[in-house]
Amino acid sequence: MNYKIALIRGDGIGPEVVNEAVGVMEAVGKKFGHTFTFVDVLLGGCATDAVGKSYPDGTAEKCKSCDAVLLGAVGGPKWGSDKPAEQRPETALLAIRKDLGLYANLRPAALRPAMLDACPLKKETAEKGIDLMMVRELTGGIYFGKRDKYQTEDRGIECTDLMAYSEKEIERIGRRAFELARLRRKKVSSVDKANVLETSRLWRSVMHRLAEEYSDVQYEDVLVDNCAMQLVRDPGQFDVVVTENMFGDILSDEASMVTGSIGLLPSASIGDTAPGLYEPIHGSAPDIAGQDKANPIATILSVAMMFRYSFQRAEEANAIEAAVDAVLAEGWRTPDIAESGVKAIGTKEMGRLIREHI
Ligand code: NAD
Repeated sequence: MNYKIALIRGDGIGPEVVNEAVGVMEAVGKKFGHTFTFVDVLLGGCATDAVGKSYPDGTAEKCKSCDAVLLGAVGGPKWGSDKPAEQRPETALLAIRKDLGLYANLRPAALRPAMLDACPLKKETAEKGIDLMMVRELTGGIYFGKRDKYQTEDRGIECTDLMAYSEKEIERIGRRAFELARLRRKKVSSVDKANVLETSRLWRSVMHRLAEEYSDVQYEDVLVDNCAMQLVRDPGQFDVVVTENMFGDILSDEASMVTGSIGLLPSASIGDTAPGLYEPIHGSAPDIAGQDKANPIATILSVAMMFRYSFQRAEEANAIEAAVDAVLAEGWRTPDIAESGVKAIGTKEMGRLIREHI
């Protein structure tokens, strides 16, 4: 197969980690007989510097002409909140997700076997294993609702952010979660705040309807505050966790921390038709950019997700994950995951070792 991949290298460590991920893709291509056409797409702070806006015209069309999109990271202090919206990298991230119709964000939080010691939880909790998939609704809810800011007579300035969800939006993300659970350990935990929020009560009723339809999948409702507790008490109980946009934003970061370093975790954002977008969960890490210190594993594992979810190529995905696990099992570490006193290797060397294992 020839796959056409849009590469958004972005800012900070983005270009460094994408380079290594591309190298791994090429190694997989060699082993399994695939070729790749790479299309460079300018987005983020680097686009602001080059053309004056973070989301240049034609970006979505360029990405839509590809089979999948790989993104490094965007952002940095140079393009902070004092800049107009069209120059800020975050504006571009929201725009690309919306324009590609990427309503489902998949964030696995898996404790890799060689990284048990990196888990900040009790040893016996870590040893039980952590392997969950957070499915976050990405294009609705309070982040996209109507906002208002106005002066009141007696209470100073007042602001509102509206959280809205439709049955249709809830059903499509719910289906994604149940379908994914069927490929995993067949359990869905749906997270809401149905004891308080009307949107959550609708969320829960739609999920219950789906749970009847997917009767082979075990289902439970979990209140968001309880979920936050359970993630640090016993994360091994979760398989697929599905939730709305803001809860998912917060809980997925919490889940990632229980697995150790953010430098290890990939993510996928997918829709119904357009190409999926694959990216590490970390940001552009300006503090270590350009120093060959960034951990490329999260981006490399994002490529594994691309093979699994966009190309339905589980064997290639497994090969990448096995190569990462083998390199970690041999004791190789980038500085972010190295124990004190252990000599760390750089971004390029980590990429080379993983390629070699493939
Ligand atoms: P960050 O994830 O960039 O960095 C947080 C800390 O983790 C830093 O100390 C950094 O050095 C370290 N780190 C991150 N990735 C690493 C890696 N691969 N290897 C080793 N260490 C790593 O988060 P931040 O500092 O809050 O944000 C920096 C910039 O990134 C901001 O402009 C922010 O808006 C942006 N950001 C972008 C995305 C994205 O592109 N999707 C996501 C989050 C943050």
